[in-house]
Amino acid sequence: MPAVILDGTNIAREIRAEVAAEVKNMTAAGIRPGLAVVLVGHNPASEVYVRGKVKACEEIGIYSEKHTPPESVSTRELLTLVADLNRRDEIDGILVQLPLPKQVDAKQVLLAVNPAKDVDGFHPMNVGFLSTQRPGLVPCTPAGIMEILKRSSIPIAGQEAVVVGRSDIVGKPTAMLLLNAHATVTVCHSKTRDLPRVCRRADILVAAIGRPGMITREFVKPGATVIDVGMNTIMDPAEFERFFAGTPKREETFRAKGSVLIGDVHPEVAEIAGAITPVPGGVGPLTIAMLMANTVRAAKMRRGVAELSRA
Ligand code: NDP
Repeated sequence: MPAVILDGTNIAREIRAEVAAEVKNMTAAGIRPGLAVVLVGHNPASEVYVRGKVKACEEIGIYSEKHTPPESVSTRELLTLVADLNRRDEIDGILVQLPLPKQVDAKQVLLAVNPAKDVDGFHPMNVGFLSTQRPGLVPCTPAGIMEILKRSSIPIAGQEAVVVGRSDIVGKPTAMLLLNAHATVTVCHSKTRDLPRVCRRADILVAAIGRPGMITREFVKPGATVIDVGMNTIMDPAEFERFFAGTPKREETFRAKGSVLIGDVHPEVAEIAGAITPVPGGVGPLTIAMLMANTVRAAKMRRGVAELSRA
């Protein structure tokens, strides 16, 4: 039986509607959540992401402002900008879009963001809060993965979860959230021995690798829930054929755009998984929805309005 498709677009829409309702109430009470985005230089992918984030703010009613220092910006100049945003009361969330240019000490800049305004959840203080199950700001993509699982009524407690990928942005925080939700968690990486065997243990398999279609059916226990975080662009026709031959909708996209998106999970996995997130339309839309949720959460926490716990 083909897998149930976990529709991230729908879940993200639901969350955005909930956040918009909260923003409306807060604004009526005189607190309008505000997000500042810092976009350095002209990285086309970053520009697309930032446009999506600013548009989401507009739709939801969050105040937003964009700062666009030039590619040549120094660490010191960025630190000055971050310090100014830290000080301003109308700014609840600060997001420094990565990657930063080579001459900038990215770690120092991220460390300078006030943890209470760190809506990306990357500050070591928020990482510590997550691992010690204290209220804080949780990275958006991992938080989105948990929302998909919870809102799709996928059981987590007591389940075997395997996370492939150990990045600070996706793999590690996802593993921590699953552990906090009482899964038995294994984290895999490029040095893991016999990866397919380890992955086949999973009731919940999360792929956050950055390798197109790497997770094939031999990695997946039939009936498992598969969360595909990967976002890879295929432009090579031979590679396209290998993954998507005989899929008219994808062929149409490939013809029109010259590229298609593929996750880290091979399309054949949908034939044996119990439930699976598609790419596009799975985890991706949740990332921005959770950024909006984090901005509202930051606005509330900073003012002591509510003690929310998502961990
Ligand atoms: P990173 O490159 O930071 O991390 C990749 C991880 O995968 C590393 O831990 C690496 O292991 C592991 N890995 C690489 N190759 C293998 C292999 N052959 N076998 C086992 N493990 C391997 O990537 P990110 O975590 O930032 O992103 C992962 C994917 O998720 C990307 O495709 C990215 O585009 C996507 N993404 C999607 C988002 C969304 O909104 N949907 C948001 C963020 C990311 P090691 O540590 O040993 O090197």
